[in-house]
Amino acid sequence: MRLSAHLRRALATHASSPATSPTRHSWTKQEIQKIYDSPLLDLVFRAASVHRQHHDPSKIQLCTLMNIKTGGCSEDCSYCSQSSRYSTPTKASRLVDIEPVLEAARKAKENGSTRFCMGAAWRDLSGRKRGFERILTMVREIRGMGMEVCTTLGMLTPEQARQLKEAGLTAYNHNLDTSREYYPEVITSRSYDDRLDTISAVRDAGISVCSGGILGLGESDKDRVGLIWEVANMPEHPESFPVNALVPIEGTPLENNEPVPYQTILRTISTARIVLPGTIIRLAAGRQTLDETQQAMCFMAGANAVFTGEQMLTTPCSPWDEDKSMMGRWGLVGMGSFEQPNVARKEGAKLEERSAAQQAARVEASGEVQASV
Ligand code: SF4
Repeated sequence: MRLSAHLRRALATHASSPATSPTRHSWTKQEIQKIYDSPLLDLVFRAASVHRQHHDPSKIQLCTLMNIKTGGCSEDCSYCSQSSRYSTPTKASRLVDIEPVLEAARKAKENGSTRFCMGAAWRDLSGRKRGFERILTMVREIRGMGMEVCTTLGMLTPEQARQLKEAGLTAYNHNLDTSREYYPEVITSRSYDDRLDTISAVRDAGISVCSGGILGLGESDKDRVGLIWEVANMPEHPESFPVNALVPIEGTPLENNEPVPYQTILRTISTARIVLPGTIIRLAAGRQTLDETQQAMCFMAGANAVFTGEQMLTTPCSPWDEDKSMMGRWGLVGMGSFEQPNVARKEGAKLEERSAAQQAARVEASGEVQASV
């Protein structure tokens, strides 16, 4: 029986059974490009169907981001106001003290955020032993509040990743930014492979990976597909894929870039949702440029996390009250801590390790008691 073109299209985009959207790690760029290039509303519909198979579509993760060390960074990321190579309004500051960070985390928790992210503007942690110890304390304390904790601290060694995991870190953000091919147009001070090495160290330490990109850097559709392809073929998909829209900042090389069209943001989110079905898709920087209906369409297509609070790293953020009212109007609620199964699994392993260690310590202690009786 021959199906009419419109019926074939309808069936191709019809909500399918869970068995038809497995998590794959063997995507070709051509396959992803074909998804990306499909008619936009078909793409959104298919993404929404996948989203409903893998996630509770009413849940949005609320994250709050704090810059714990601003500006003065030696890297040359051409979109960033924190690079010391560009003359921008962002002034350099030292690593903040522990208490103001804990205070901000408490406030975020009171307002409904379940993940607290801390960002530091530097290349890596070398020569920052005391600063790193301070950050480990922040991680320990915030994790102790029952929140998910994320950091973005530049390049990491496997040992630093292990220490962060030991302190209770839930996730580490290290964006690939764009495709391997376009990357040298954006950053020259560290390579794509440097970034992949840090991501591997994070994953090997048992920390959830948060790695995504920025749209509007001057990249092409092929580069956006290349970025999704890169993370889709990792041994584990990142637990989180942030989609940022460039907020051009005066003084940076990209200050005059045209805003990325909304349809490109929506297309990228939808494609990522289909290719990375279990991942949290994070509508990150640039969300402020979208109106409520545009944001709702992104949530429909599978975005299920936002940054909320007072400020992103260097760009504005929607305040909690506004976000909560918006979510209420669309029937959305906040996601609980450790609700994402992939993140919970990694945290569970940590909890099991801890309880095994505590059990071993108890056995050892009771042995010592018996030996001394
Ligand atoms: S994005 Fe990060 S690494 Fe790059 S210049 Fe900005 S602070 Fe430095």
